[in-house]
Amino acid sequence: MAEGAGALRLIDTLLGGEPGVISGVFVPGPMPAIVDVGAQTSAETVANALAELGVGPNDLAWIVLTHVHLDHCGASGDLAERFPAARVVVHRRGVRHLVDPARLVSASAAVYGPLAPLYGGLEPIRQERVVEAPDGHHVDIGAGRRLRMVETLGHARHHMSVLDEESGAVMAGDALGVRFPGAGPYPATPPPDIDIERWLDSVDRLDELEPTDVYLGHFGAVPEPREHIGRCREQLLACATAARSTLPEPTPERMARALETELPMEREVGDPSALERWRRLRWDVANHDGLAAWAGSLVPESAPDPEGAAQPGR
Ligand SMILES: [Zn+2]
Repeated sequence: MAEGAGALRLIDTLLGGEPGVISGVFVPGPMPAIVDVGAQTSAETVANALAELGVGPNDLAWIVLTHVHLDHCGASGDLAERFPAARVVVHRRGVRHLVDPARLVSASAAVYGPLAPLYGGLEPIRQERVVEAPDGHHVDIGAGRRLRMVETLGHARHHMSVLDEESGAVMAGDALGVRFPGAGPYPATPPPDIDIERWLDSVDRLDELEPTDVYLGHFGAVPEPREHIGRCREQLLACATAARSTLPEPTPERMARALETELPMEREVGDPSALERWRRLRWDVANHDGLAAWAGSLVPESAPDPEGAAQPGR
């Protein structure tokens, strides 16, 4: 990892006070940026971290979001108020959710279930402060440094990764899985709109960038970027195999069993405390729900049924 004044700085957003769960990355420069800001409940923590990095209220130029899931974007509304010069960069499909977050917040509450209060919601952001980023969009950090927005759909239909052209590091959001410190990686496949086929294309795109460093939203830099990307591809392929094996009835229960066969969490994640964290956050449950929804989308809705509608079990 690059050292010195221009080095990227990992920010621990301390979800619910817990270290090592959700991170942001600070990009220093004349027009500094933060990539992902964590949940709304972390806004104060992130604002303090930026202050400690010497970022004054009028200094922050950019809040860059990999996607509009509340664990990555929830604090953006609060931070936009605290840093009035900052503009918020997001995929075009994310813009309306930042401007009018009500639907996103209620849909997220359904996904997070009893843990929704841990994340909080999202304060609306004025339209004129939101920058719609197409694939290849550049965010100007000043002094010749630029971030490149790379569309990486799959985890969500509004997911982008962020390449720091100066260091060659990629902030991958959730496109390259979750890896808690000291544990093995595992994909995050939550509802509502994961798409494994598109996701694999995104992994190839990121691989082709030959990143010097890969930062995950959960959590931080991985030790061997290229190796990590290869493992991520294999795990997504295993997820796809598991998902297809549940057809034609892709329930979350069947998905849980299929994943246990194709990609056992205990084997992949390894570290017991990381496994406990996956389960306590109910991200394993979200994985089953998301993959079941994707598998369901593989069934053609109007497929002719030679047995007729009377067949039991459908
Ligand atoms: Zn996430």
